[in-house]
Amino acid sequence: MLSFWEKESFLKYDLVVLGGGIVGLSTALSFKEKSPHSSVLVLERGIFPTGASTKNAGFACYGSAAEIWHDLQQLGEDRAMEVVELRITGLQKLRARLGDEAMGYEEYGGGEIFLKDEHFDQAVLPHLNQLLFPFFKKDVFVPEPDRVGTLGFQTESIQAFITNTVEGQIDTGKMMRSLLSLARQKGVEILTGCRAELPEHINGFWQIPVADSGVVFSAERVAVCTNAFTTQLFPELDIKPGRGQVLITDPIPGLKFKGIFHFDEGYYYFRNVGERVLFGGGRNLDFKGEETYEICLQPLIQDKLEYYLENLILPKGQSFTVEHRWAGIMAFGAEKVPVIKNCGNGLAMGVRMNGMGVAMGTEVGERLAGMLA
Ligand SMILES: Cc1cc2nc3c(=O)[nH]c(=O)nc-3n(C[C@H](O)[C@H](O)[C@H](O)COP(=O)(O)OP(=O)(O)OC[C@H]3O[C@@H](n4cnc5c(N)ncnc54)[C@H](O)[C@@H]3O)c2cc1C
Repeated sequence: MLSFWEKESFLKYDLVVLGGGIVGLSTALSFKEKSPHSSVLVLERGIFPTGASTKNAGFACYGSAAEIWHDLQQLGEDRAMEVVELRITGLQKLRARLGDEAMGYEEYGGGEIFLKDEHFDQAVLPHLNQLLFPFFKKDVFVPEPDRVGTLGFQTESIQAFITNTVEGQIDTGKMMRSLLSLARQKGVEILTGCRAELPEHINGFWQIPVADSGVVFSAERVAVCTNAFTTQLFPELDIKPGRGQVLITDPIPGLKFKGIFHFDEGYYYFRNVGERVLFGGGRNLDFKGEETYEICLQPLIQDKLEYYLENLILPKGQSFTVEHRWAGIMAFGAEKVPVIKNCGNGLAMGVRMNGMGVAMGTEVGERLAGMLA
């Protein structure tokens, strides 16, 4: 039962944001920047954000050569480059907002490995480099087959290697903590353990009930930033969950590589975290099984990750132990572009990050705030 005081002072906001991941917090911050005296509330159902933003691999990446080439075929040049640009501007804004140290940003570059049975025509690289030149003023993709040995990878399974000269990596935990603390510092209120139910527009205001609480917040504007979980509120949207599984090893003294790497069309990705290896992926081993909201591990995938660690990524005979494993939920759709839309009456959504939200999340938030301000 609410008191008169609670009803008067706790329930009304200019903007309520659903979801406290990178997109939700960025939306709240951008809205506050545009409108400093506004009242902004973020509702997050987890004790801390429990979607993808605290569980990811921390690749600050714009897309591998094979990925961008694939997108060009699927989406056409303009739309594919729009997605790349969202990632580039998103990351620039995130770095400017938090500072590199606060998010553990490091820029070692990285690369894409092509296994013996993969096909990728490297003749397209000059075209891809030309498309990216306006952003980076240098060639991004450089074939360097001879680097494979020096990075410690097992050369016999690899037919080609393309260095990426511009990508970086972040400390995901540090980044999200910094974002949460900046949002609070700027006056954004964040309530956790609050699962929002479907907002209803009544007499010019959105009513946002919080499940199992009897509390209904009211706001002129609502930003829906619930990524994979959005169809639990709006089932008509084309959004499917996709579980991502990850492991991290204990430190491996003398680990030979630094940077972020992909193979098998980006379905596998690994990086160094100091002298540890963080390795994830394998969703393509069981697309149907991984299309789930359940946060747990599947032996089929974890075994494959260990197989590749032993037989591809680390030098032959290198011993390692897995310190920790986890999973998180991403959002995918038939088209590999995010949904950023103004739904009218002061409700907008920025969802379906297609596994690319670290880089693009800040720009998505900026655009949502622009629609709502
Ligand atoms: C294992 C893994 C590895 C990844 N690696 C990378 C990577 O290296 N680089 C990269 O760019 N991207 C990566 N991603 C994807 C990236 O993490 C996401 O694209 C990004 O975090 C999405 O941010 P978001 O804010 O849209 O969604 P989320 O982080 O999922 O946030 C949505 C939030 O909404 C909350 N929520 C849901 N429903 C409700 C409700 N009804 N009421 C209140 N709150 C609700 C959830 O608890 C969640 O915290 C990875 C993802 C995973 C799982």
